[in-house]
Amino acid sequence: MLINGQPLFQPRNFIINLSILCMKAKFATVCIACGDKIQPGKEISKNQDEKWVHKHCAEDSDGLP
Ligand SMILES: [Zn+2]
Repeated sequence: MLINGQPLFQPRNFIINLSILCMKAKFATVCIACGDKIQPGKEISKNQDEKWVHKHCAEDSDGLP
């Protein structure tokens, strides 16, 4: 869904983006949270250990041992 040419973003993501540094991967790396590859252009965030992980992995990190 587009409004004035801008993608409609979800309020939940907006709130998260204010609190978690988020950017797009510039090079291929490996997500330490799930072990999967992170492809260039994927959205990534820093987790609590200051490591780059998938954006969704950083969001889901709460409650992990
Ligand atoms: Zn991941």
